[in-house]
Amino acid sequence: MIIPSGALGWLALRSLRDEQIVQRARQQQLFQTVADSVAKDCANLLWDRQAEFAAAVEALLADAPAHEVANTFDERLRKAFPLAEVGFAVTAEDNITSPNMLGRPEGRRFRIENDQWLANKQSTEVYVTTMKGTIPLRKLDEPPSEKKEKIEASMSGFRQVAGDRTDGFAARFLQNNLHLITWHRSNRGNDIIFGAELSQSGVRMLIEDLVEATQNEGTPSIVVSVIDDKGASLGKSLPFKPIATSEIGEMLPHWKVAAYPQNGIESPASLRYTLGALIVGLIGAIAVGGLLLLADLRRQFELARQKTDFVSNVSHELKTPLTSIRMFSEMLAEGRVADEEKRRSYLKIINSETARLTRLINNILDFARMEKGEKKYRFERCDLAAITREAVENYRPQLEAHGFEIETDLPEEPMMINADCDAVAQVILNLLSNAEKYSGERKDIRVEMKGGTVSVLDRGLGVPRGAEEKIFEQFYRAHDSLSSGIQGSGLGLTLARQIARAHGGDVTFQPREGGGSIFTLRLPV
Ligand code: ADP
Repeated sequence: MIIPSGALGWLALRSLRDEQIVQRARQQQLFQTVADSVAKDCANLLWDRQAEFAAAVEALLADAPAHEVANTFDERLRKAFPLAEVGFAVTAEDNITSPNMLGRPEGRRFRIENDQWLANKQSTEVYVTTMKGTIPLRKLDEPPSEKKEKIEASMSGFRQVAGDRTDGFAARFLQNNLHLITWHRSNRGNDIIFGAELSQSGVRMLIEDLVEATQNEGTPSIVVSVIDDKGASLGKSLPFKPIATSEIGEMLPHWKVAAYPQNGIESPASLRYTLGALIVGLIGAIAVGGLLLLADLRRQFELARQKTDFVSNVSHELKTPLTSIRMFSEMLAEGRVADEEKRRSYLKIINSETARLTRLINNILDFARMEKGEKKYRFERCDLAAITREAVENYRPQLEAHGFEIETDLPEEPMMINADCDAVAQVILNLLSNAEKYSGERKDIRVEMKGGTVSVLDRGLGVPRGAEEKIFEQFYRAHDSLSSGIQGSGLGLTLARQIARAHGGDVTFQPREGGGSIFTLRLPV
């Protein structure tokens, strides 16, 4: 039983683990999709700004000649396109016409940082994105390969970067700070490239707004945040590892979108703990189940054994009175007994043995009825004192014939109860019969009545320790026929208790001081 249960438990655990793996994979996929889509949104957001920039350039060029716009581009652009930190213009001859070196400090800083690169005098590491997608410049001459996982920087000057493309982004790290540059080349612009360095705080704000909007309209169980090149979080920052991340690309190198579960992920330790608890619980359940099954099996065996005993006990109990009835009736019938005294005594024996048979058969029949739930009680007003007295008087000759002394302490006045009188009398007779059977050498019986309780006291063998309650179970015999030589069916007390309980009362056992037993019938008055 334990082996198959163990195997079953193991299989259950395995399938649980498999299920968990599948679920993890599904979760991972879902989170990845969300992260990818937000990363794409970030890129699109910047492209939209790029389109705005291009439109602003076109508008400026529509108003004034190209060389004029190019000379004062920084000032003009910042009015038309506030996201620009600095506007710049580079002519076909690699001259930087704006911003002015002697102008505002931002312009000067820009020129110092970028002149060499913009004028193509210096190659620097740059990440380039153009309309057709991300192009690592180094790869341009190579045959197209599979999609690159990691973004790449190339060493190039600005003109190389821009090539003949009209629009694009270039990202550079200067002193570990990311600078994002966008450019546009117009038909009206005499091959002048107009560009802007985007305001870092402006870009961050745009992305923060995007993340917030995504969060509000997306799945609430998935928290999205954008992590910048320094590892700082834009949007909600969470203390645990994300389930999926997606790089935004060359446009914002080393920036990524992270997707977290709302309530954190189960750590492997807590998962192991849950799994461990599950295994322990399972093994515990198997053990308890096994023990219960074993206990039940034992009970069944015990019951089967008791039933077999019962059959042989009953047969024995039937045979003994029948044998004496037959013997004495034969003797009387053949007229072999001349002495009148003896004849009367033989007739008494026949009478008492018949009563014993009747009691036994009544018990068995009643038990069968109770088992089937067919036992019916006829409740009426009756006098408990009278019932007890009658039962004792009926039984007295039998007891005295066997050398018993019987003492009673019954009240004179009636004690009226609502009961099935015959059933109550049967209980008292069963208790008296037991007192007789289990009395041994000291043949002394006392019947007492106080209120609604009738007690039968003997000085007999007593009930062995531990069997005080079991003696009320069906077929249970504390003194079996083999060892004690006392016959019985193991039903007398079972019936007595069931009858008493059906009346709202009980039958209980108590050891008697000085040896013997007290069996008490208690009935509601
Ligand atoms: P049985 O037919 O065996 O007497 P009962 O149900 O009447 O069946 O009693 C169950 C068991 O309780 C008996 O086998 C006996 O061991 C014990 N018992 C009952 N009455 C007495 C008593 N007066 N003294 C000692 N043991 C008793």
